[in-house]
Amino acid sequence: MSNLPVQPFQPPLRLLMGPGPSDVHPRVLAAQARPTIGHLDPAFVGMMDEVKGLLQAAFRTANEMTFAVSGPGSAGMEACFVNLIEPGDTVVVCVNGVFGGRMKENVERCGARAVVVEDAWGTPVDPGKVEAALTAHPGAKVLAFVHAETSTGVESDAAALCALARAHGALAIVDTVTSLGGIPVLVDQWGADAVYSGSQKCLSAPPGLSPVTVSSRAVDALKSRKTKVQSWFLDLTLLTAYWGGGAQLVRQPANQQTSGGISAGSKNPPGRTYHHTAPVNALYGLHESLVMLHEEGLEASWARHRAMHAALKAGLEAMGLGLLVAEASRLPQLNAVTVPEGVDEAAVRSQLLARFGLEIGAGLGALAGKVWRIGLMGQSATPRHVMACLGALESVLGAKVPQGAGPAAASRVLFG
Ligand SMILES: *Cc1c(COP(=O)(O)O)cnc(C)c1O
Repeated sequence: MSNLPVQPFQPPLRLLMGPGPSDVHPRVLAAQARPTIGHLDPAFVGMMDEVKGLLQAAFRTANEMTFAVSGPGSAGMEACFVNLIEPGDTVVVCVNGVFGGRMKENVERCGARAVVVEDAWGTPVDPGKVEAALTAHPGAKVLAFVHAETSTGVESDAAALCALARAHGALAIVDTVTSLGGIPVLVDQWGADAVYSGSQKCLSAPPGLSPVTVSSRAVDALKSRKTKVQSWFLDLTLLTAYWGGGAQLVRQPANQQTSGGISAGSKNPPGRTYHHTAPVNALYGLHESLVMLHEEGLEASWARHRAMHAALKAGLEAMGLGLLVAEASRLPQLNAVTVPEGVDEAAVRSQLLARFGLEIGAGLGALAGKVWRIGLMGQSATPRHVMACLGALESVLGAKVPQGAGPAAASRVLFG
């Protein structure tokens, strides 16, 4: 017992420039420190409705079924798969990095057959191969792909892939964990059907919530399931009885506890049914981060991510460092930087952390030891982060890179 920690935990100050979490603005931290109220309190339900509206704006969708799953991005991923897929279904899954591999794992755990379309790590999903797979498997129920592959820094063409799904009568499940808020995510324009994201990447809230939006086509598929959704916690029918927005889906059981008639914006509100205790304070944080995104403007946020990427890229190139991904499919918010010959990848990361409190990411899987992953996500996409990162890298790499060149080049891009 005497070895138990008895001091409050004081996290060190960091600059978070890895693959997520990104830096959280003090406004969001302050929001999370506000008083906890009940998860069925009318004031809280009103805030949930605002979160829903703000998420619809961020996803560019009118989908009624838009909310935040209580869990990290992986929970949103699992929610989309377990609700849309039944045992025996066929799903075309695109794998060009770690997160595509997790989609395949989800499909198989649903008892469905995964038809895998593989592309090399560092390259986008090839729509030609996807079209061939959908043609070869005309009964495929779902096409699943990752819009922004955080393991490699690659963007795939979501509009083209969703159009292929539509043309072949399949639903599209899209991972936008790293893209939402950072680059265009156009759910309705793409015709995407089940889309999930995460709170801790370009939205810059703490980890632990997963925004999800589901189209009416996907709701129809959910209604015509032959089997119960195998996960009780992630069953969208039950979740939307709490969040609202499932009017198409939910018939209110007479004997369940409800808060009664308090949902906003409806003449005859269906009420809210207790499902689980929502992470009340975490949702205050997500709400505040979405308010901040709304204040900045979605398009301005996309432009800021592009501008910070351009500055970082200029600095890295001036230092003689290269980027893994070809320009056409390069994500601004996740930069996979090739580790130069003779440099110890992990030692550089530990020194950045020790000297400067700066966190960048390591390569995963096939790219372990070969790349660093520098995130410019949300509140971590600022001139302060770009300049600090380049200066810190220059200091740690020392004589291996020209001194002064990287920050100077970035500064010229940022400020002329
Ligand atoms: C981070 C990430 C996830 C998983 O999110 P968690 O919050 O870590 O569960 C899924 N997909 C992509 C593309 C990601 O970047």
